[in-house]
Amino acid sequence: MNNKFLSLVANEKFVADELINFCKESFSFKILSTRILSNHALEIEIENFDKNKIQDLNKIFNQKQIDFCIRDKNFKDFKVLLCDMDATMIANETLDDLVKITGSDFNVDETSKLAMEGKIDLRTTLKNRVEILKGQPKSLIDEVLKGIKFNPGGKTLVSTLNNLGFESNLITGGFKPISTYVGEKLGFKNIVSNEFNFDEKDCFTGDYIPITGEKNSKYKYMETISLDKNISFKEMVSVGDGSNDLQMLKHSGLGIGYHAHQIIKDNINLQIKFTDLKSVLFYLGIQESQFID
Ligand SMILES: [Mg+2]
Repeated sequence: MNNKFLSLVANEKFVADELINFCKESFSFKILSTRILSNHALEIEIENFDKNKIQDLNKIFNQKQIDFCIRDKNFKDFKVLLCDMDATMIANETLDDLVKITGSDFNVDETSKLAMEGKIDLRTTLKNRVEILKGQPKSLIDEVLKGIKFNPGGKTLVSTLNNLGFESNLITGGFKPISTYVGEKLGFKNIVSNEFNFDEKDCFTGDYIPITGEKNSKYKYMETISLDKNISFKEMVSVGDGSNDLQMLKHSGLGIGYHAHQIIKDNINLQIKFTDLKSVLFYLGIQESQFID
């Protein structure tokens, strides 16, 4: 039996019965049970789910601006959370913010966008952007920290999963100490990122220690966790928006694109397009009453 859970999440509160009937009629689902997760989130258990219906679900729920997730009924054993930082847990692209503060006329927005869409090599663009910082004072980082905007639901996501015993990881192609600041504010247990080099006058040297700065770095980190802790990829939940998240999302048990670039929308089934980061919890079938802020 290929039974699945379908989670549905909207921004506005909805009438659950109407949505359940709508699903029955629109997709001819055989519904075995339903569970209210909050006044704007619902979980439906479907008998023998036909995966060819995913395209229809996409089309119809896009129109309704409802986010959805299909997951296996029989697998509940998620243990690890992996989150991208820039444009996922926070609204900023922090390296670009740093470059902009220097007043450089380098077109960071365009470069960063092309890199996150997978159209140019991430390693080269990181190198080019970090080189611009050469000779600038480390204190520029404080300016960037002041401008950081946390995306809604992030703190609740991390606190709730920590409380449920998850190993939470912030894994970013961004840089310490920005990643440390963000990771600690949100309560991540582990923070994995690149590191800037500074000279004796506390100025950027223009180079860095690459830890996560390549296309497949995040996937490699999954392999490390898997080997060190004997945890399978299936037990991992990941969230990200850009091309450097693609392999991580593809290989995780639950890989979720968050307001993502096209390359992620095209290659990953699970997406959060309309709602906030708390939807990851709803996608796992967690009720709002269990959330921790
Ligand atoms: Mg990102």
